[in-house]
Amino acid sequence: MVEIAEEIGCPDCGAPLKIKAGEAIITCEYCGSDVNLAVGKKYFLKHSIISAKFDNSAIAKEVESWMKKGFLKPSDLARRSKILNADLKFLPFFIINISAKTSYEGVMTRTGQNIEKKGDFTKIYYWKVVGRRGTFFPTTSYQIPASGKADFNLSLLSKDGKFLNSELDEKEAGEIASQEVKEHHKFLLSSEVDHITSMDTQIDIKNTEFLHAPIWFINYEYGGKTYELIMDGATGEEIKAQIPTIEKKGIFGKLFGA
Ligand SMILES: [Zn+2]
Repeated sequence: MVEIAEEIGCPDCGAPLKIKAGEAIITCEYCGSDVNLAVGKKYFLKHSIISAKFDNSAIAKEVESWMKKGFLKPSDLARRSKILNADLKFLPFFIINISAKTSYEGVMTRTGQNIEKKGDFTKIYYWKVVGRRGTFFPTTSYQIPASGKADFNLSLLSKDGKFLNSELDEKEAGEIASQEVKEHHKFLLSSEVDHITSMDTQIDIKNTEFLHAPIWFINYEYGGKTYELIMDGATGEEIKAQIPTIEKKGIFGKLFGA
């Protein structure tokens, strides 16, 4: 059971907002307005949603066809596996439009000589940060589906999906994104120089959008073991999957199907 920390009224419709411990942005389940608890006011961040396309039985069919695809999977995966649970969650994301400029000085040593290099580069990102602390989600493997987003509206939620409020607010999400972009630029720079003498990345957050996207968290069983599969609830595409390793059979096993 989840503890309800306190109850306050929605600034728009007056309905009680159910607030669970740790949540930072609450979406009113009656009118769809967002409230930033730290400020205690209505939130004017742009809020979008991606609709879910699959219900429970439809996603089971998507999982089955996913199991039949690809040569890296056991050939009997679809036949011999069982879906243990499939949960649709509307996961909160911040899509942060960042311009990041890195200035650097360093030395390239890989040619055998020490060549001093300096320069700068600027990149623009729409960086994704998940608004939940306890949820593992591979943001870099997730692409916003081409079917696109709509302005947030409660009627676009599906009944069998669990709506999750964000545990981060815009400010904290921006700090996380800035840190991740700096790390990413350090990684990019490693292809330019072998030794970084100095490096400075200026982060400029242009815009932040709040988004709820449908994600399926699935567990399936195969050969006595449990595997995880994360699927995009708008497209049925795999976002991340654990796949059983194919048992290596000898040449006779292959020939005779043993
Ligand atoms: Zn309301």
